[in-house]
Amino acid sequence: MFRFNDLLDNILAYNKDASVELLQKAYVFSAKVHQGQTRLSGEPYLIHPLEVAHILTKMKLDDDSIVVGLLHDVVEDTYTTIDEIQEMFGEDIATMVDGVTKISKIENRDIEDRKAENFRKMIIAMANDIRVILVKLADRIHNMRTMSFQRPERKTKISQETMDVYAPIANRLGVSWIKSELEDLSFMYLQPEMYERIATRFKKTKSERQEYIKEVIATINQKLAEYNIKAKISGREKHYYSIYQKMEKRGLTFDQIHDIIAFRVIVADLKDCYEVLGIVHSMWKPVPGKFKDYIGLPKPNMYQSLHSTMIGPYGERLEVQIRTQEMHKIAEEGVAAHWRYKAGAKIGRKDGTQFEWINRIREWQEESKDSAEFMDIIKEDLAPEKMIYIFTPRGDVKEFPSGSTPVDFAYSIHSQVGNQCMGAKIGNKIVPLKHELKNGDTVEIITSTTQKPSKDWLNFVKTSRARTRIRQFLKAAERESSITLGKSLCEKEFKRFNLSVTKMTKSGTLKDIAKEFNFRDEDTLLASVGFGKVTPVQILGKALPHEELEKVYKKKETKLSKVISKFKKKKPKQRSAVKVLGMDNLMVRYAKCCSPVSGEPIIGYITRGRGVAIHTKSCKFAKAMSDERSVAVSWDVQDKLLTSAMLSVRCDDKKGILAEIANTISKTETNIADVKVRIMPDKTAICTFKIEVLDIAHLQKNMSNIQGLKGVISVERKRR
Ligand code: MN
Repeated sequence: MFRFNDLLDNILAYNKDASVELLQKAYVFSAKVHQGQTRLSGEPYLIHPLEVAHILTKMKLDDDSIVVGLLHDVVEDTYTTIDEIQEMFGEDIATMVDGVTKISKIENRDIEDRKAENFRKMIIAMANDIRVILVKLADRIHNMRTMSFQRPERKTKISQETMDVYAPIANRLGVSWIKSELEDLSFMYLQPEMYERIATRFKKTKSERQEYIKEVIATINQKLAEYNIKAKISGREKHYYSIYQKMEKRGLTFDQIHDIIAFRVIVADLKDCYEVLGIVHSMWKPVPGKFKDYIGLPKPNMYQSLHSTMIGPYGERLEVQIRTQEMHKIAEEGVAAHWRYKAGAKIGRKDGTQFEWINRIREWQEESKDSAEFMDIIKEDLAPEKMIYIFTPRGDVKEFPSGSTPVDFAYSIHSQVGNQCMGAKIGNKIVPLKHELKNGDTVEIITSTTQKPSKDWLNFVKTSRARTRIRQFLKAAERESSITLGKSLCEKEFKRFNLSVTKMTKSGTLKDIAKEFNFRDEDTLLASVGFGKVTPVQILGKALPHEELEKVYKKKETKLSKVISKFKKKKPKQRSAVKVLGMDNLMVRYAKCCSPVSGEPIIGYITRGRGVAIHTKSCKFAKAMSDERSVAVSWDVQDKLLTSAMLSVRCDDKKGILAEIANTISKTETNIADVKVRIMPDKTAICTFKIEVLDIAHLQKNMSNIQGLKGVISVERKRR
């Protein structure tokens, strides 16, 4: 059994300045409060925190982390409070223990219905102090190692969670030995038969493989000696789960998988890496497409190495990884390599910031108010999707799902950069917003203060972070302009009663009215006027007695609804042929893009300060507009007005045809407001008529008349 003295020996071996007193105090305290508790195996509970601390010494972490390992379950499982921990061990340790405790609480829930907020708490606790994650990973490893005493359904549940959350986190942090061990343990519980099959075959072929490893190492060594390169070479078997993944991915059986060994060549410096690569490539033929330069293009978890697969001495696949000692340390320990005890260096909570992933999480949780949204971002981030690596101009590497665009990249820098992104520079080329980034691109974002996100961006961005930010912007901008519009609509109407929005806001009247309408505040009320959900007259109805309103509107009806429905603009010139639901006093104009004609299906859109624009329902511009700004409108049949429409007539370029068409139009008592003719190179002409028609039937009659003329090729409604 592992004892406290062994733990001390371990720590002192790498940190001779470790505070034995502090560690002892933590051990004694943990032993005292866990006294009498046992694990499912029947062993004393204390074994667990001791083992967790042991795993942490394997990562060579600082004393504080080891202390947290010893204390990590005392708040969760004993009567000890965080305050007591703080009093005895100080704030840093207390905060970390609190972080680990919070994560444990979440674990006891079902993965499926784990609430977004809890997930968020867990990630935040981790991101705030990376040591919390490392302690949690050590805790998870020991629990997985000793899980045989758990009930079967617990085993499956915990294993699935380990596979879904903890192993990917270990991978993100680059602590590869933890990732492999967690994956293999989960694999064993989740797919026991498959695990067993692989394990059996693996053991059977073991001695054979050892022979092979020796042989390959000797061959490489000999060759390197010729070139005077000093290197440490080893051959390591891959872990079961990664073998299983290979089998799955390539649809092969165990016996067909030959690259279950990775040969590692560890050399003194960078240039040796490339030299060794050249040497092994001269010994064995490299498999095309299997060379990866993670030195030039490190993984986001900072992993660096050269990888190449070659055809080995027996025609088998032979994988070699080449790296320096320093790279090797990071490959094995990841974030822990940066976090470990360093003589003379005090480790701060903010360490680990060189890890892109942790910085990203910190940023996200600061920016994202909505937990569900935050969870989506993290889940997407942990999913083993195909990723590409993109460089910033400063040489930092960022990771994106493949298919990402400059907009995704811009939002990963900052929301503001995303919002003002105009395009990007890749090398010397300027690329548009939609451009698909390629692995290894160095991207420089071009911004402009006049740029704004558009709805269209949502169609091509790949990261949920960009999507969320764009939606947020559009929502805020729309609300902003709705408030402005609502305010000006109200001001206009209020003036007639000597009232003003500004004064009513100051006096608080508007806020009270907003409450009556069940709105949060006056801005929301004004926005809803902008959206056309509430009319200024309805607001006046709450602010003034009905008699006052009637005086101005000069109507006898007592009911306010009647006042609204009867009210119309007085000048007949401004009367429109369109009724806007509940807003008869609104300014109406016909959109030039589709020039609707009476009788056509139409829809209204509230514009900024220019009243309601009437579009045809099929207008592509109208379709692109937000639903919240749309208002139902209908043609007022009693109030027929002439509306203008554009016709584009393509005809032979022959004498008199224009007069003939014009004549035909006049026959239906249609006024021609304008006409333009363009002669085309193919001896045809395009005549554009602006005509004024009563309704759609009137227009269609004209179109069919023209179509019937000799020499006319086509007649089309012209829209912009
Ligand atoms: Mn524990």
